[in-house]
Amino acid sequence: MSFLEALHDRVLVCDGAMGSMLYDRGVFVNQSFEALNLTRPELVVEVHRAYVDAGADVIETNTFCANRMKLAGFGLADRFAEINVAGVRLARQAAGASGYVAGAIGPLGVTVGDGGSTTVETAESHFAEQAAALIEGGVDLLLLETFGTVEELEAAVRAVRRLSALPVVAQMATGEDGRSLDGVAPEQFARTLSAHGATMVGVNCGAGPAATLESVEQMAEATDAPLSAQPNAGGPKEVEGRRLVLSSPEFLASYARRYVAVGVGLVGGCCGTTPAHIARIKQAVMALSAPRSVPAWSPASV
Ligand SMILES: [Zn+2]
Repeated sequence: MSFLEALHDRVLVCDGAMGSMLYDRGVFVNQSFEALNLTRPELVVEVHRAYVDAGADVIETNTFCANRMKLAGFGLADRFAEINVAGVRLARQAAGASGYVAGAIGPLGVTVGDGGSTTVETAESHFAEQAAALIEGGVDLLLLETFGTVEELEAAVRAVRRLSALPVVAQMATGEDGRSLDGVAPEQFARTLSAHGATMVGVNCGAGPAATLESVEQMAEATDAPLSAQPNAGGPKEVEGRRLVLSSPEFLASYARRYVAVGVGLVGGCCGTTPAHIARIKQAVMALSAPRSVPAWSPASV
């Protein structure tokens, strides 16, 4: 069954954080986490497996920062293709034939577009190059995530769409107010990203589960596309005069059900989430049926 067929059928669960899991295993933050695909593959597979065991249907490749620009900062530009292809192989090793491997693509880490250091065209060529390597490795879908500006995510969606008809999930990072970090309302970015060919639109990272609910509710008003949500474990909150970080697996799972009720068909976790969070999310949503149908992408829809 393909990823889109499965999405028709049931709510799919994506994995949780990779970075914090690697950090917990003694990997220092000043090195390229993506280079571990070559130097410590067993460590990467161990994290993937923990998420598969927790019930994740979709495993994201450890390639979030594996674009040529960011790898160059670590002197790894020449290992670019290898790092991406290895990332797919390791995720597949853990996901097996019945799980889905999502090729993770993050922002370039520079300002793209008018007044920025990088033109939209250059950004598109970087995204296209990374997507091509991930596709060559054999991903089932591409997952563009944690984008701070709509312009950059739009460029990434366009670049991937020019290459491939694979499912594309496009996720913005959002703030406390539910808007993208460049201040665009969820209704607006949901519409724009769908129009550029994203199969699913969503949000990840951001200000925790409650802010994420705000975003998906507003996206649901603007598009019929199935939605995705991968919140951080939770931001600090003022409760009876105390600042608490509400981040328990139960807390996140209770929100997962609310996301599905609004139209989310793919739910996972971002920063600070662990296999325990994913296991509880899985329990919470496994009996729910898919909230929205998925139209196959066709060139005519762009
Ligand atoms: Zn995050």
